[in-house]
Amino acid sequence: MKTKVDKEKCIGCATCTILAPASFKMDEDGKAVEINPPGDSKEALNDAHDNCPVQCISIEE
Ligand code: SF4
Repeated sequence: MKTKVDKEKCIGCATCTILAPASFKMDEDGKAVEINPPGDSKEALNDAHDNCPVQCISIEE
């Protein structure tokens, strides 16, 4: 699996880094950045995807 964050849309809420801490981290701009390959379960990645308030996370199988 591979994830991608659209940094243009990311509002820096950090929800994804809480739900999938081994797959997303905050960068120095206060935006989320993906860690590939993701270190969390598919369920955790889907949770992060579904709970991103601006829907800027994409997940590829
Ligand atoms: S949940 Fe979405 S908006 Fe919030 S930090 Fe992660 S990618 Fe950015």
